Amino acid sequence: MDLTWLGTAGFIVKSKEGEIIFDPFLSRGKGEPSPFTTKSFENSQALFVGHGHFDHTYDIPEISKGTDFKIFAPGLTGSILKLRGVPSSRLVHTTTKEVLFKSFKMRAFHSSHVKFDFPLVLETVKRCGIKGCMQMCGLGLGYPKGLVQTYLFEAEGKKILYMSSAGASKSELLEYQKLEVDYFLAPLQGHSSIQEIAAKQTAIIKPKVVIPHHHDDFFPPLSQNISVEVFSEKLKDHGFHGKILEIPLFKNSQI
Ligand SMILES: [Zn+2]
Repeated sequence: MDLTWLGTAGFIVKSKEGEIIFDPFLSRGKGEPSPFTTKSFENSQALFVGHGHFDHTYDIPEISKGTDFKIFAPGLTGSILKLRGVPSSRLVHTTTKEVLFKSFKMRAFHSSHVKFDFPLVLETVKRCGIKGCMQMCGLGLGYPKGLVQTYLFEAEGKKILYMSSAGASKSELLEYQKLEVDYFLAPLQGHSSIQEIAAKQTAIIKPKVVIPHHHDDFFPPLSQNISVEVFSEKLKDHGFHGKILEIPLFKNSQI
């Protein structure tokens, strides 16, 4: 199957089962402009939302205008998308109790957001200045995270676990370990020690392959690049025996 990294936590998956999207964020502010547009999703059959933050949901109302697929979002995030113009006929409230999208055997799990730590907040405030901080507060209030969900799906006989933020608890990670995941899409953002956190999580989940995402400078100066090399070192420290696959920004990989 073909996996395209849209930048931030966004992906398009193209497989024999069809085409699905996760958390597309195309606007990117002063970040490297995205080559993707609504047209890029013309053949997609469903969009899944991990949580409500602006870098996961901002562009969904616009994308929904030129397409006709269902948008799967947890409670509050779904309600906010509706307020922002997504027709309710397009929205599906995601629950963890059922298979959400049969062709991909898609399931959702209750997850958590990584907790922004003080050094990260301090560094971010230094980069953004007062004006930037005001903008951040606006984005925080307008786009609350709501429920955070992790998704598991199957395509071409492979199990893929998509996490939108790295806040999973130990017991949640042990549940994922039992699932025997082939590919884990690991978010590298939101903490000054995010590579250590993500490496620990990967070592517990034990996927065959880990694919980092969200490490690009998606909305500077709020964001910054996160080193995948450091993540790779931390994986070794934690005794991870699987592979790491780094998909370049806006590029795809056959998995
Ligand atoms: Zn977030």
